[in-house]
Amino acid sequence: MCGPDCQGLNTEFGHSMQECAILASCEVDRHLTQDLKAQYSAIVPLRCLLLKHHKPNKWKLLCTMESHNEVRRKLPNIWQNNQSSVVDRIRELWGVRQYSEEEIHTVCGVLEVNAFEVGQHGVSVRALYPTAFYLAHSCVPNTSHTDDDNYKLTVRCSSQIKKGDTITLSYAYTLQGTLKRREHLKESKFFDCCCPRCKDPTELATYAGALKCPKCDAGYVISSEPLERAASWRCSQCSNYTVTAHSVMLLLEKIADEVEALDANDIEAMESFLQKYRNVLHPNHYHCLGVKHSLSQLYGKIQGYMINELPDKLLHRKRDVCRELLRVINVLEPGYSRLRGIVPR
Ligand SMILES: [Zn+2]
Ligand SMILES: [Zn+2]
Ligand SMILES: [Zn+2]
Repeated sequence: MCGPDCQGLNTEFGHSMQECAILASCEVDRHLTQDLKAQYSAIVPLRCLLLKHHKPNKWKLLCTMESHNEVRRKLPNIWQNNQSSVVDRIRELWGVRQYSEEEIHTVCGVLEVNAFEVGQHGVSVRALYPTAFYLAHSCVPNTSHTDDDNYKLTVRCSSQIKKGDTITLSYAYTLQGTLKRREHLKESKFFDCCCPRCKDPTELATYAGALKCPKCDAGYVISSEPLERAASWRCSQCSNYTVTAHSVMLLLEKIADEVEALDANDIEAMESFLQKYRNVLHPNHYHCLGVKHSLSQLYGKIQGYMINELPDKLLHRKRDVCRELLRVINVLEPGYSRLRGIVPR
């Protein structure tokens, strides 16, 4: 517990005297020992609220950040959860009454929408940055970012940005299809992404979400209107084949479960997965890309497949898997990117 020797007291990344004073005066000790993680989900918003009196300039900046209260209020999962785990905890359990319910919800929203998850060596914290929050999202971003031991965030342009272009970063996972990415962005960041990748049913000609047409040899089944979640999917070649978005989602969920169940070190199981779905999924489908990404790491690194003992056939397989991945990454995460950096060339 906190005391004069506390290493976090009055440090930039620790906590303030005021925070201690509040928690000490409301006799919170007996509650603090329960479920520490849940306590921290309320301590971060409390730290933000304390800025109002003790760091008014930071508070002013925080108030310019988007909270999407109107959208979040209609989402019981989000709003009710914040009400019980943050608002009621701060106001009822800790007895801190100087902040209104609305104000606390706003701070929760500001954190959900704008915070970056940073931290090294197994530490994961939510942090707000005074300029990085201006960056817009795109599923084909032109920047990438890293953080260091001092929580300093470095944003680098990953491809050429022309004067007047929007500077963007991605909150979504690159190796995922449009349906999934847009669902994630809607649920966690509360907006409908309409970036060039999301708008294009072929995902910039990568076909990263496409299925193979069961009616013809050459066609791929893609959404007829990718910005409409419920729009039907159609074959790009023949006019014979249409399927509902619902069926596509069910199929993808089922395959996702299978991918999930794959042993993370089982090369043979991964290769048979790719074989099994070769007539169902486009070779660039994100489920295939995910598995190929694992294979690119495993070939040459695990027991029985060490690089010095790989026969030519498997060396070529490693090379081909890496090339197939890079062809897609070059389009979806162009320039310098973490994903590109870890695929051997
Ligand atoms: Zn302390
Ligand atoms: Zn997008
Ligand atoms: Zn077809």
